[in-house]
Amino acid sequence: MSFTLALVGRPNVGKSTLFNRLVGKRLALVDDQPGVTRDLREGEARLGDLRFTVIDTAGLEEATDESLQGRMRRLTERAVEMADVCLFILDAREGVTPADEVFADILRRKSAHVLLAANKAESNASDAGVYEAYGLGLGDPIRISAEHGEGMGDLHAALMPLA
Ligand code: GDP
Ligand code: MG
Repeated sequence: MSFTLALVGRPNVGKSTLFNRLVGKRLALVDDQPGVTRDLREGEARLGDLRFTVIDTAGLEEATDESLQGRMRRLTERAVEMADVCLFILDAREGVTPADEVFADILRRKSAHVLLAANKAESNASDAGVYEAYGLGLGDPIRISAEHGEGMGDLHAALMPLA
């Protein structure tokens, strides 16, 4: 039995970077289709010996008439319904922002099973942001750098019980 992990969080925190790292080139054909907008991208992830489905809430970056807040809520709620667990990602360099609080609130209200990741944590400059993340009350943040591939062992350990 495998599981489905949804990557949620405000634009620019690194969801797609992590998605691409987990999925690799296995979605390249889908991504390359011109003019195809996909609110939720799904891929087959590999992390060490783990195989699971990962969902990127990608629709937040697209310009539409719908407000960002509305899209955040709609996409996050859909992702929560599709997934066994959500990885709520924030940008550790920026710490916890008001938009992050909105996501935390949605996730709490949906009683989603949530893991927290503090991304962009490849340098000490992110330490303060990582500590701030503890204050969200969503458990201990997993310190990662999606871009540099750091913290993947800790992410693996956090996901292991779900496999
Ligand atoms: P998304 O909007 O949440 O999907 O974020 P993206 O994956 O598109 O990343 C937004 C920006 O953050 C891009 O410029 C990435 O290169 C950058 N980024 C992603 N992960 C990291 C990281 O671990 N460290 C740093 N420094 N930058 C990152
Ligand atoms: Mg993205």
